[in-house]
Amino acid sequence: MAARYGVTRTPFLKTIVHDDPLGGKCILYGLCVRVCDEIMGASAINFINRGPSTVANILFFEENPDCQGCRTCAKVCPTGAIVIEDLGDTRIMKSWSGTRIKLQQCTGCGIYFGPRKLLEKSLTHLDPGIAEELRLLCPACRSKRIAVDEIRAKTGGLSHHARS
Ligand code: SF4
Repeated sequence: MAARYGVTRTPFLKTIVHDDPLGGKCILYGLCVRVCDEIMGASAINFINRGPSTVANILFFEENPDCQGCRTCAKVCPTGAIVIEDLGDTRIMKSWSGTRIKLQQCTGCGIYFGPRKLLEKSLTHLDPGIAEELRLLCPACRSKRIAVDEIRAKTGGLSHHARS
């Protein structure tokens, strides 16, 4: 938008940080900080430092166990500044001091599909029996399981082949 209106320079000093964990892409828009606090309730990141040195990050640039590894901050970032990498059973929040989050493996298909602690938190509102049964399944396997259960319930447990 600035370019469209002919704004090509800023009067503010820009500090170049060579080991910037956000790769110089952060424009301090702040959606990551807001979504982490207001939607996820984690408050794992914030604006730190002052003036041209202001950055969005974790206080003291240390690993933060409050981060749930939900990736919501990365999804709302308009410049794609937040780098996250999944390696086996671990999600590494590269931009957030390398905070490491354990991922849950699906007992249906074997993929690692989501942060364990977030999963446990999100299933607390379900009936404990159902939550326990679905907890270890990825969304795709969970949908399949629910569909199969619904078909079984409607057909009295008979499969398509058994009825035809
Ligand atoms: S991944 Fe971590 S820092 Fe990002 S929104 Fe989720 S809890 Fe907050």
